[in-house]
Amino acid sequence: MKTGIKTDIQRIRDILSRSLELETLNLSDVTALMNINDPHLWSEVFDTARRVKERVYGKRIVLFAPLYLSNHCINNCIYCGFRKGNVSARRKVLSIDEALEEATLLSSRGYKRLLLVTGEHPTISGIDYLEDAIERIYKNTDIRILHVNAPPMDVDEFKRLKAKGVGVYQCFQETYHLPTYRLMHPSGPKSDYEWRLGVMDRAIEAGFEDIGMGVLLGLYDWRWDVCALIAHGKRLMKKYGFGPHTISVPRLQPAHGSELNAPPYPVSDEDLKKIVAIYRLALPYVGIVVSTREPARLRDELLLLGASQISAGSRTSPLGYIKEGDTEQFEIGDKRSLEEVIDRIISIGLIPSLCTACYREERSGKRFRQLTESGAIKRFCHENALLMLKEYIEDYASGERREFLSRFLMQEALKSRNGLLEKFKEIEKGRRDIHV
Ligand code: SAM
Ligand code: SF4
Repeated sequence: MKTGIKTDIQRIRDILSRSLELETLNLSDVTALMNINDPHLWSEVFDTARRVKERVYGKRIVLFAPLYLSNHCINNCIYCGFRKGNVSARRKVLSIDEALEEATLLSSRGYKRLLLVTGEHPTISGIDYLEDAIERIYKNTDIRILHVNAPPMDVDEFKRLKAKGVGVYQCFQETYHLPTYRLMHPSGPKSDYEWRLGVMDRAIEAGFEDIGMGVLLGLYDWRWDVCALIAHGKRLMKKYGFGPHTISVPRLQPAHGSELNAPPYPVSDEDLKKIVAIYRLALPYVGIVVSTREPARLRDELLLLGASQISAGSRTSPLGYIKEGDTEQFEIGDKRSLEEVIDRIISIGLIPSLCTACYREERSGKRFRQLTESGAIKRFCHENALLMLKEYIEDYASGERREFLSRFLMQEALKSRNGLLEKFKEIEKGRRDIHV
């Protein structure tokens, strides 16, 4: 018995040391991690996940906001406030002018990266609409990269989306467990499991190299779904030479008009920490995204054990930034503003990043992976995060906060090489979007 325990611990430590070498884990390693019972061993796992994240991305945490374009939907996902059967939902699709107004407002708060989100409606918010919205936002605001979380498309539609300069195409499988999938998605195009399962292959065929994946935690046993998602990611890596650019960890939240009173398979805060750490260890190069579904304290903890991107100051209803009101997709757990989140990231020893350089420098897919393997991404990310923080201070910070941020920036810049101080002077003179 004693020998068995020792062997288990040795096995886990061997897995952790391979992760630290940035090796992708196999499914047997992943299940071994999932089956750990010893809380001390979990502490080692969390600590290793933090170190792996720092080895790949350094201390930077990427910030973004979602922009909900439409809550019209022809699907009936029973957990979602936007579902067709929710007759009490107030429906809203932003006009292109309103989309621009929301993006302008977010840009005036300092955001450079937005995630456009829509329900599924081929005429109201289909590809023609998305193309218009993306083009107008890029042309008329200082938003530098738009990601999209929209329903699965065919290859031709994906080509049009890519041609508009979208960064990441994001779509969650929700659950890989077929009987649960059928139960949760009773009607509409989303009820077709295989159409959704093939979405990333179609996006990649159309030219997307940055794809974002996820399962909706709480629908089915998280161990099963997390394993299935990792297997899916590894299959893409084998086939295309690159896997998911990001993995999100959405956890089921209460939603007005949802048919679910409670998650069928609740995921505790402790489980969520394990999930973030397991994704980080299994697929070390992946960006892990935590949304404002989660409460502030937990999000801070997740940032210290492997998460690398978070949304901030979010609203989940169309026109939600300009006025509160229309049907939200789900309730928000972290109501802090972008300012507050930036300050908090600094106070826990990390670096907030508003950088968007990789997408525009075509550091994506295989190339992104090679750069992370050589340690180059970490250097780019660190310096670009500081350059963007300087821009943010110049354009958006005032009073005591400006002093606090400037002090922090100077401390960090003095640790860096590469002429950062000269670049700061350029920014003070009005130059923008300087990046390495
Ligand atoms: N309509 C598209 C789709 O379903 O793929 C994209 C947008 S949908 C609004 C984005 C994601 O929100 C879904 O993939 C789902 O995982 C998540 N979601 C839906 N209802 C939720 C809820 N009640 N709590 C947390 N996340 C939810
Ligand atoms: Fe529609 Fe997406 Fe909500 Fe399903 S999850 S009802 S497809 S908006």
